[in-house]
Amino acid sequence: MDNIIYFDNFATTSLNEEVFDSMKNFLIYNYSNPSSLYEFSQKSRVAIEKSRENISNYINADKNELFFTSGGTEADNWAFIGMTLFKGRKNGHIILTAFEHSAILETAKFLKNRGFDVTYIFPDRDGFIDAKDVTDAIREDTFLVSVMYVNNEVGTIQDIKKICSFVKKKNPNIVFHTDAVQALSEIKIDVKDLNVDLLSVSGHKVHAPKGIGALYIKSGTEIENFIFGGSQERSRRAGTENVAGIVGFSKAIDILRDSREKNVSKRFALREYFLKILNENFSRFNINGSLENRYSGNINISFPEVDKEMLIMSMDFRGICISGGSACSSGAVEKSHVLDAMGIEEELKNSAVRISFGENNTFEEIDEFILALKEIID
Ligand SMILES: *Cc1c(COP(=O)(O)O)cnc(C)c1O
Repeated sequence: MDNIIYFDNFATTSLNEEVFDSMKNFLIYNYSNPSSLYEFSQKSRVAIEKSRENISNYINADKNELFFTSGGTEADNWAFIGMTLFKGRKNGHIILTAFEHSAILETAKFLKNRGFDVTYIFPDRDGFIDAKDVTDAIREDTFLVSVMYVNNEVGTIQDIKKICSFVKKKNPNIVFHTDAVQALSEIKIDVKDLNVDLLSVSGHKVHAPKGIGALYIKSGTEIENFIFGGSQERSRRAGTENVAGIVGFSKAIDILRDSREKNVSKRFALREYFLKILNENFSRFNINGSLENRYSGNINISFPEVDKEMLIMSMDFRGICISGGSACSSGAVEKSHVLDAMGIEEELKNSAVRISFGENNTFEEIDEFILALKEIID
């Protein structure tokens, strides 16, 4: 698929070849079950613990605070279900934002249907959550607050440190969760500085494989387990470990440690170039969400009068991958709950597409994209 132009790095990223190499050993040769007693399994066990140490170190967590999961969705589910039903809690109040990923929104809906009160905080038109709106919603029975770090449709970055500190000031007992899945490739996450209790990450948004993620659980946080069975992950998350996935995730973090800042600059330069050429060639478009405090490679753009499904299909016909919003709605082009929550007008909402540049994209690809756009729109 050499001729594919991939502008959908928020849906997933390519597997880095170095990551793949690091994994291969644990798929083919050192394939032992880390829980077995013999020497052979030691290699898998050691690899997992080294990876845990490396990844937790990167986000400034203790290695005992990081638990591997099957991805961002499981980490998000664990945070919400582990804090509620599985803990024996039957009611109470949860606060989250109206533009969370579906992994959070659907879990909250599930809990709402089972007796929990849920308050949705709406972002402003630029895509930002006001810390005061969050604290104003806090009630006597509020026990969980969840605010995503980087929105997966418009890329806006929330001031998690500030929002969390406002919440903790009002009630230090409230557990604060953040979905940091899209933030990991952009921001140097420091869980101690943020002071969050729970934080979700995922491998495949940072050039590791799909099916591996982690939940950071601040030491002392009272959260029940979510997956039951064997005593893996210090009896907190059952199931034979995805050894290769864990090793690959750790390798991806090594690469990120060296390249994150460079990647941000590259993606930012790509976006600046795109916006420049766009402005030179088109007049009727709207960028949704603020361009400040936004993920470097993200653009969410509406071409009024242009049907977004037609636009995506026409781009696809030319081998260009862009998205109608999030990738989590079974391929169907649905109305965006994110733009909805931001109060974006109907006409703009119906024509909005998401472009997410990766650091491996090129300026030539943007030229091709603009050329295609001209053909399609004219
Ligand atoms: C991709 C994504 C998820 C889901 O992660 P998976 O590993 O695909 O399950 C959750 N939250 C956000 C913000 C995402 O972008």
